[in-house]
Amino acid sequence: MTQALRPVRGFNDILPPASVHWQRLENEAAAVLEQAGYGEIRLPVVESTDLFARSIGASSDIVEKEMYSFPDRQGHSLSLRPEATAGCVRAGITQGLFDGGQLRLWYRGPMFRHERPQKGRYRQFHQIGAEAFGMTGAGIEAELIALAARLWKRIGLNGVTLKINTLGSFEDRKRYRAALLDFLHRHEDSLDDDSRRRLGSNPLRILDSKVAATRELLENAPRIVDSLGSASAAHFDELRRQLDALGIAYVCDPFLVRGLDYYTGSVFEWVTDALGAQDAICSGGRYDGLVEELGGRRTPAAGWALGMERLVLLAESQAVFPAPSGPDAYLVALGEAPELRALALAEALRDRLPRLRLIVNADGGSLKAQMRRADKCGARFAIILGESELANGAVTVKPLLEKQEQLAVAQDVLADFLAQRIQAA
Ligand code: ATP
Ligand code: MG
Repeated sequence: MTQALRPVRGFNDILPPASVHWQRLENEAAAVLEQAGYGEIRLPVVESTDLFARSIGASSDIVEKEMYSFPDRQGHSLSLRPEATAGCVRAGITQGLFDGGQLRLWYRGPMFRHERPQKGRYRQFHQIGAEAFGMTGAGIEAELIALAARLWKRIGLNGVTLKINTLGSFEDRKRYRAALLDFLHRHEDSLDDDSRRRLGSNPLRILDSKVAATRELLENAPRIVDSLGSASAAHFDELRRQLDALGIAYVCDPFLVRGLDYYTGSVFEWVTDALGAQDAICSGGRYDGLVEELGGRRTPAAGWALGMERLVLLAESQAVFPAPSGPDAYLVALGEAPELRALALAEALRDRLPRLRLIVNADGGSLKAQMRRADKCGARFAIILGESELANGAVTVKPLLEKQEQLAVAQDVLADFLAQRIQAA
């Protein structure tokens, strides 16, 4: 292959029949979200680089080393979005959506991060996300979590664990940061290089380290729960009570911090042990300061985003999808007059049966060639229209998957005939 025709590393094609799995999951997610009153917001893929630096955080991994940023023709720095919460808040501010009331939105689409591609981690990946604005109580976090749980249930997914934690208020976090820094400085020699670098910029992120020795050290580190003020503690208790009431199991994980700076209060993550290191399927939390940080009026908010590639991988590994099936029928037409009749017949069938999956033979061919195409696509029936059928106002229907005799069916009852067979399938 010549250089120019290689796909870009970390950017994937999604082909049928895998794309059918994507459609199914997207449809389920849309149904769950719309059912709960979330409206879809369609956001641009490109935003000002500044938006991400101000929201996700200039010292976050994403902004420091994962963004696709480029100058436009006027020299303004733009970036392919690495996530969509920032864009959603930007849209809310610029479109005047934050009027002090409540707002529930969801989005879907591609995100871009320059990470090392591996299973479940790509440079273009896709998220579906939900964001809720204007609500201060733990109820909205419980609602968001319950939406994800409902989606797993609708898909038939097992083995996803919910982890929750709280980052407390701004003051709690300041107190905790000081306690954590004190501890980490005393053990600086035992820290890995990355974590040592974060001491100066983003010490909470050290809690997230995957390095074994650092993890061991952290076992004895101070915990944020011990730095919580009474309001934060009560909020977190309330969230747990609501999850209990919903019957949603969770694990409290004091090391769960999110890689994006805008989170405040509750954070959560759904994880699986089926995808190796790429274990997070869906993550989110509360971000009460972000709207104001970006220039809007103070608006409490919470949300999550799920990774479609990981969800598809997990769902496929659990065989939740029915085996791919071919079309219901393949229309074989032999000769010029039958071909013209076939066109009209196919349109009439599709009008009558909107869910019918029907391929009409294209580019002619002998009976044998057309039947070969019908077999190859996995059609359930071949519908054959030749000169003699045309003369009789009929078609010959030949079952291709079941051992049954072919039979003649009048054209004017063909739709009824297919309706029965397709429903029975
Ligand atoms: P990770 O810790 O795996 O890097 P993250 O904390 O960076 O995840 P978020 O920014 O919270 O992830 O994004 C939400 C979800 O998007 C993740 O839970 C994951 O399912 C998915 N995701 C994030 N980065 C990628 C990627 N590069 N490729 C595929 N999916 C991703
Ligand atoms: Mg990441």
